[in-house]
Amino acid sequence: MGDEQKMLAGETGGAILLVDDDTATRLWLGRWLQKAGYTVREAATAAEALQAVTAQRPDLILLDVMLPDLDGLEVTRRLRADPAMSTVPILLITVLDDPGSKVLGLEAGAQECLSKPIDGTELLTRVRTLLRLKRNQEDLLAEKNRTALLYGVSRELSAELDLNRLLARILSLTMAALGSSRGSIILLDEQQRVLRHIYSHQGQIATVGQAVQEHVVRSGLAGWVIEHRQGVILPDARQDPRWVPVPESGYVTRSVLSVPLVHQEQLLGVLTLAHEEADRFSASDLDLLGPIAAMAAVALANARLFGAVKEEHARLEAVLSATADAIVAADHEGSITLMNPAAESVLGLARGEALGKPFEEKVAYPDLVEIFRRARRVGSSVPGELTLPDGRTLYCTISAVSGGREIPGGWVAVMQDITHLKALDRLKSEFVSTVSHDLRTPLATIHGYAEVLTRALGGEERGCAERIRTQAEQMSRLVEELLDLGKIEAGVEAAAIPCSMEEIIGEAMEAVRILADSAGVALRSEIDSLRPVQGNPVRLRQAVDNLLGNALKYTPPGGSIVVRAWEQVGQVMVTVQDSGPGVPRESLPRIFEKFYRVPGTRAGGTGLGLAIVKAVVEQHGGQVWVESEMGRGSTFGFSLPVAR
Ligand code: ADP
Repeated sequence: MGDEQKMLAGETGGAILLVDDDTATRLWLGRWLQKAGYTVREAATAAEALQAVTAQRPDLILLDVMLPDLDGLEVTRRLRADPAMSTVPILLITVLDDPGSKVLGLEAGAQECLSKPIDGTELLTRVRTLLRLKRNQEDLLAEKNRTALLYGVSRELSAELDLNRLLARILSLTMAALGSSRGSIILLDEQQRVLRHIYSHQGQIATVGQAVQEHVVRSGLAGWVIEHRQGVILPDARQDPRWVPVPESGYVTRSVLSVPLVHQEQLLGVLTLAHEEADRFSASDLDLLGPIAAMAAVALANARLFGAVKEEHARLEAVLSATADAIVAADHEGSITLMNPAAESVLGLARGEALGKPFEEKVAYPDLVEIFRRARRVGSSVPGELTLPDGRTLYCTISAVSGGREIPGGWVAVMQDITHLKALDRLKSEFVSTVSHDLRTPLATIHGYAEVLTRALGGEERGCAERIRTQAEQMSRLVEELLDLGKIEAGVEAAAIPCSMEEIIGEAMEAVRILADSAGVALRSEIDSLRPVQGNPVRLRQAVDNLLGNALKYTPPGGSIVVRAWEQVGQVMVTVQDSGPGVPRESLPRIFEKFYRVPGTRAGGTGLGLAIVKAVVEQHGGQVWVESEMGRGSTFGFSLPVAR
């Protein structure tokens, strides 16, 4: 029978309060229940029962209805009114054949009623069922509280992005959840050096001295948690060598609970809770702290990321504000997303008024809008010049910005003030055209006499005369180019006729083919069929010749040159792409200037070739551009409007 009782009691047993004024019944029931594995306390009156309940909360109450002082129904009602007792099951014992008190008992809040005489086996079955129900109910309640706590924590932590406030919040929430009086968080960097250490004692947040931080991380409990990456409970810190007491703090620490803060395999820090009493933390506290620590780690990682992004943003803002170049960015739909102060002043547009609005609508300069439209059409970088109403000249480049996988790209316009360069250029032109005129006649004379001397002299003198002749020739070329440029810029040219760029390019390529072959450079073209452009065929050929000549001059053996021509929205586009050394970034804005040569250029030249290309193209209503990156070759291009 004893075994059967044990089995019916289940594995966990429980504390039962047995209330009956009949000593014999108490004795019998008490023994029976004890044998079944329960702990039993006894009370003979209602007063004794209520007192016993306050002294120690039982798991179940076995209550006789007939008590000398108060009846069992009233005791039941009083117990139910006490929130601490509301989940303790009550099993009422009534007199046989008294269905009335059974009903009243259940109404008063008892879970079950049994009639005397009591059948022992039935009693045990009821007790066991009621205890199991109670346990389930308590587990459910605990789970509900835990879920509510975790939900609250997650909501609070995810709303905070300021690192200092977040650390304080994590501490106060976990301390409140686990009833600890002190807590600390140590934040670590990737090398596991202490970044920050905050400490809270009864709601007061403080920082900890460097020496203590290092000591704790090196040889204290935090060091152990960092090394093992797992949570730990110290029932009594005084007995554990891992706990390093801070002598000057004056606090006694007994119970400690410490967990690592890990996010995506990365250890971000250590959270420690402490209490001045021993044995305050249990394994279920550690279980509860696990998910809280995980949420705290996510929030910390977010806060750090946010901090880093904010810092990066501030740095970018500072750089943008400090640059003299005007910068405007637009998104893939063409709405302005960024503007620096230089751009505000250049465009006469306040940032607040422009952000989020279409570039084409807000920018009042048609030339700039046209460059923007062209960049969007072409889908790549388009340069151009812009003259402001106050006379300033800007060199603009509008480039496509590629976005990430989920971020669509956009456009960025960079505008550099080149007014001073323009002024210099004008001065240079005036000076040069005067000087070249004056040089033409004496140079022709030198050349003529040198030729006479070459013929007349022999030996070493002949060589000298020959050198004079070639140098004079080179100078004449320079002078001719200068005069050409002057004429082109002045617009004193022959009347424009329809010209086929297909033919002009074809002839220009044929002329350099032998040169390209002997230089070991592959030359090829991709020419669409093109409508004619209106212009001067000699000058247009000169422009193509100059671009081809440069490509050949600067491309080393084994390289390649591709000439392309196609039509695009009413424009004939021509590009010459080479695999040469490329042009340094800083030289790009100046490359079409007169006499400009990239510093360090070895091949001979006058620095006028590209200036002539630009002058010719602009005279024909077109535009020139260059795209190049050091070591990746260059593409020089121009556009010309198709003849009407
Ligand atoms: P140059 O007579 O010096 O070639 P240009 O006006 O034609 O004068 O070119 C100006 C400068 O631009 C050159 O000195 C050279 O540094 C650079 N350059 C021109 N074309 C190319 C090219 N295809 N590849 C690399 N650099 C080039």
